[in-house]
This record gives sequence, structure tokens and C-alpha cells, in this order.
Amino acid sequence: MRHLKNKKSWLLAIILVLVISMLSACGSDKTGGESKDTLSAIKKRGKLVVGVKYDTNLFGYKDPSSGKVEGFDIDIAKALAKKIFGDEKKLELKEVTSKTRVQMLKNGDIDAIIATMTITEDRKKEVNFSDVYFKAGQSLLVKKGSKIQGIDDVKKGTKVLAVKGSTSVQNIKDKSPDAQVLEFENYAEAFTALKAGKGDALTTDNSILYGMADQDSNYQLVGQPFTDEPYGIALNKGDDKFTKYVNKFLKELKDSGEYDKIKSKWIKEQ
Ligand code: GLU
Repeated sequence: MRHLKNKKSWLLAIILVLVISMLSACGSDKTGGESKDTLSAIKKRGKLVVGVKYDTNLFGYKDPSSGKVEGFDIDIAKALAKKIFGDEKKLELKEVTSKTRVQMLKNGDIDAIIATMTITEDRKKEVNFSDVYFKAGQSLLVKKGSKIQGIDDVKKGTKVLAVKGSTSVQNIKDKSPDAQVLEFENYAEAFTALKAGKGDALTTDNSILYGMADQDSNYQLVGQPFTDEPYGIALNKGDDKFTKYVNKFLKELKDSGEYDKIKSKWIKEQ
């Protein structure tokens, strides 16, 4: 009888140790709020989920007639899915805007942001960034014939349109503190507002503005870019392992010549 009781308590103790170690393993899998091995989680899920723009011609744009999402950032996302799975189709795209992208990453809705996102010190407090994969600079888009021909013409009384959550808003406020800045939810709305005469100029990266001028030849870029906007792929804060993996991917993409092919497919100017 005593023998049996001893056996029972041993068994209980073993189970207890097992349960505790399992629980603590779950806990330690989370470093800085992130899964320790993002890559395994993505592989297990069977697809990579990337946040991209849907309204930014040339970078991430959903064609209203075909429903297809295409652009430079999309091709980078496809190449990353190909690196992970050997199949670029194992990719789910989710729409982000400049305002929503960081929160969507933090919420775990997406594995990465590939969406015309500038690497900044401020943003580094919230996300990890890959190495630079594209270099843009902020510029101005105006209706042809406009009096505005560059940043020096943006002054008191000038209405400038920009998008919430973008670096462009702060930059234009710094460069032209007296101008009136109107902020929109996304680039489609901002461009529609410019076409409706609600502002004198639209400001964001030249790369994005080229995409707008490409859609409507009544509009043109003016002046020289007045900031540096290096784009990075944003990943979860503290997820250094996956960040290293993505940097390796970018290096391979460049070394193989694939990056140049993608770039020349979408970027004509610069
Ligand atoms: N590259 C700038 C930024 O990250 C402007 C483009 C955008 O809004 O995504 O804010």
C-alpha cells in the first residue's frame, strides 16, 4: 500500500515537472513579444503574409478591372515567398496604408511590411528594418502649368496634400512651416483630391508620384527631391533572426541579378 502511494506521488511529481517545463518553454518562445522562430511558423502555416499597398501605382496597386495586385513591392514579396517555399504563390497579400501598417505588423496580422516604407530612427523604435532595398526622395506633384515649380514655391497660403502616417507630412511641415498641409487616408484619396482642385500640390516620394503622373499625364513632378527616403522591409521588433534571413534574401536577390530585373520592370524614371 505504502509502495503504491509512493509510486503515485512520484508519477504526480513527474507530471508536474513536465507541465511546468512545457509552460515555461511556451513562455520563453516569446522574446520581445515575437515568436523566436518566425521562419518555422511561416513554413508551418504554409504561406507568407505580407502587408502591401493597394493604391500605389508601380509599387503595390490593385487593378480594379483584373483585381490583381501588382508592383515593385509585390515582386519583392513574391521573391521572398519563393526563397522560403520555392514557390512564389505561397504568399498572401494584405492591404496596408501608411497609417495602418505598423499596427498590423504588431497585431500579428502580417509577417512583414513591404510597402514604400522609409527607414527612420523613430520607426526603428517600433519595428526592425531590413537593409535598404530601394532609394526614393520626397518631391511634389502638380497640375501642368502650375506656378509651383519646386519646394521654394511652397509657402504661406499653399495647400499641400499628403497621406497620414507617412514621413512626407512631417518633412513638408519642416521644409515649409507656413504651408497648409491637408492629410488623407491613402494615396488614392490624396490624388483624387488633387485632381478635384482641393490642393496646389501633392507631396510624397518621387517614386510614388511617378506612378500618379503615369496614370494621368495632366500632372507632373516638379523640382528636385528634398529628402532621402530609403525603403526597408519592416519586421517585428526584436526579431533579429528573421531580419537576418530577410537581409540574406535581399543580398541574394541583388547578386543574382533578379533585383535589377524587378526594378527595371517597374521603375523607368530615376
Ligand atoms: N516612404 C514614405 C513613408 O514611409 C512615404 C510613402 C508612404 O507613405 O508609404 O512614409
